[in-house]
Amino acid sequence: MPLHVVQHPIVEDALAALRDRRTSSTEFRRLARRVSLMVAAEATRDLPTVESDVETPLETVPCRTIASRVVAVPVLRAGLGMLDAFLDLVPGAQVGYFGLERNEQTAVARRYYEKVPRDLGDAVVYLLDPMLATGGSAAMAVEGLQGLGARHVRLLCVVAAPEGVRHLEECAPDTEVYTAAVDRELNERKFILPGLGDFGDRLFGT
Ligand code: URA
Repeated sequence: MPLHVVQHPIVEDALAALRDRRTSSTEFRRLARRVSLMVAAEATRDLPTVESDVETPLETVPCRTIASRVVAVPVLRAGLGMLDAFLDLVPGAQVGYFGLERNEQTAVARRYYEKVPRDLGDAVVYLLDPMLATGGSAAMAVEGLQGLGARHVRLLCVVAAPEGVRHLEECAPDTEVYTAAVDRELNERKFILPGLGDFGDRLFGT
């Protein structure tokens, strides 16, 4: 499974502040958006384009525009922290939602909501899920997208754990993963170490 770790000073700088326990929710949101934008830029680097002509005020020039259908699917609720950044880059993307909730005791994911465009066979689908921990919810989401015909699925995250990367590799080897960092391990509660805590709580101030 291809794993892309986005290396950039702006990503490192934003990650340092995201990890800092003193960072407020307001600031966390801004930083999450910045990192997501950098990860999304990398993950859209090879989108197919088509040539067309554009008239500038002075003359006609051949240009390239995005040719493929793009679908973004944030996993509720933490994935919402990545959506605006993605839509800044690909404003024409369709948006679907997966609601996945992990049981606090068992860390096993449960799907409670799904609203995703149908017939995804011709689309490049970007699953937005900032913390790849056990990989259970990501695998469940990828499986759901494949069930809707998706053939090109990319998972965009902010921090990944080696356990999650391995799990996804086993369950969905064709899924490309783009992340800003791969951390050390999971703790006994399946939180990523060193990580940045509960992404959703920090994003929404809960
Ligand atoms: N989800 C989070 O928000 N943080 C973790 O560390 C793991 C899963």
